[in-house]
Amino acid sequence: MIKKLHQAIKNKETSAQEITEKYLANIKAKEPQIKAYLLVTEKLAKEQAQKADEMFARGEAGLLTGIPIALKDNFLLDGYPATSASKILEKFISPYDATVVEKLKKAGIVFLGKTNMDEFAMGSSTENSAFQTTHNPRNLDYVPGGSSGGSAAAVAAEECVVALGSDTGGSIRQPASFCGVVGLKPTYGAVSRYGLMAMASSLDQIGPLANSVEDAEILFEAIRGKDKMDATSVSLAEQEKIKNRKKTENQQKIKVGLPKECFSDGVDQEVKDEIDKTINQLSETGQFVFEEISLPHLEYALPCYYIIMASEVSSNLARFDGIRYGQSILRDEEQLSKSSSMWDIFSITRGKYFGSEVIRRIMLGTYSLSSGYYDAYYLKAQKVRRLIKNDFENALNSVDVIFTPTSPTPAFRIGEKVDDPVKMYLSDIYTVPINLAGVPAMSMPIAKTNDNLPIGLQIIGNYFDEATIFKVGKKIESLAYA
Ligand code: GLN
Repeated sequence: MIKKLHQAIKNKETSAQEITEKYLANIKAKEPQIKAYLLVTEKLAKEQAQKADEMFARGEAGLLTGIPIALKDNFLLDGYPATSASKILEKFISPYDATVVEKLKKAGIVFLGKTNMDEFAMGSSTENSAFQTTHNPRNLDYVPGGSSGGSAAAVAAEECVVALGSDTGGSIRQPASFCGVVGLKPTYGAVSRYGLMAMASSLDQIGPLANSVEDAEILFEAIRGKDKMDATSVSLAEQEKIKNRKKTENQQKIKVGLPKECFSDGVDQEVKDEIDKTINQLSETGQFVFEEISLPHLEYALPCYYIIMASEVSSNLARFDGIRYGQSILRDEEQLSKSSSMWDIFSITRGKYFGSEVIRRIMLGTYSLSSGYYDAYYLKAQKVRRLIKNDFENALNSVDVIFTPTSPTPAFRIGEKVDDPVKMYLSDIYTVPINLAGVPAMSMPIAKTNDNLPIGLQIIGNYFDEATIFKVGKKIESLAYA
């Protein structure tokens, strides 16, 4: 899609301004049902589209020049609101651009707006947004997944060409799977997180959502690399070096690992069948070999994630204290009269403006980090994380990529799991281990159920070897599936 649009502008069959107008019109037509956007930046989009056309005229256009993109609302876009779908940041205006935004602005991209999400990226259905519930464009009674549900829905509904999301435990891949689009969580360190609101800093990564593997790849290539503002980001040269550390003996065929733990009873029969079909089709090409592998510690990934993630959440969200950012009871005469100390200001503000899932995680995390419990929970979880990482490293020493379902089921109905957090957490059972290990993984659509709900395949790769994931993904796209 991106290459096609680029060529069309170049050939003067259309212009960046015309494309932007078309997407703004799509947004107007579809938003009443889908509710993917929290904010549409129409004026900015039009200005940027005009600049993009000027770049084309001067011969300075790259592939992303004039391409309309949507941004998850936890990214900073200078001068525009960034709420993370939380009441506590309702009046917050971004004071600078995230590094990825800065890079894309230079490339001449067009920002259409900010997309809905679960509050502070905590959730799997976008129902935890303080402002609205996004509907799955493939079937409006169903959730789009989460937490980047707005971004995935906007891509699926053609309310943008591509979008950016963040993924701490599956928040790009699971909504991509539910909405039938491509979503990549890059290797930890591949993309700078500067200007992305932190959820759990050792797990967070920024990545693309798109309607094709090629588009996801183009966007990823534009945002990856070292940034002096994020000490965990890795230079392209170093990424390449780490990628090439592993030399496979079998260069002709791509070796795919199938973890026996991931195709067990908990997985929907239809999801299993469709993945089997894809495996068979790939086998028939003669370019792939499949091998059963084992990830023995996988069963501990979800509890391990919920301790480490919540601990980091409790620390990262301490900054929303009613003084430094966004909403505060300091501006509310009546509330203020009820508080008699600084602690009251913190606790009344936080109690009033944070949603219940956010509060639940802050409390769980504070508990696991508190003295007396730290060793039993946080420290233990860190040790388990190491074992899970070892499992992936061992497996990826003998195979090039690993296949799993992205989620054990297709999208669920709006309201179905919102009152049962543990059920909700289970939809991330195959995505959270990837963040714990730090390896890259992509979800892509491989089929649809009778209710028109997409089924996603997760392709996991070795550190900084997103290239092999894209290669496999493109091969799957080229196979015909109904
Ligand atoms: N759904 C997972 C959670 O609620 C993952 C969230 C994310 O990746 N941001 O924690």
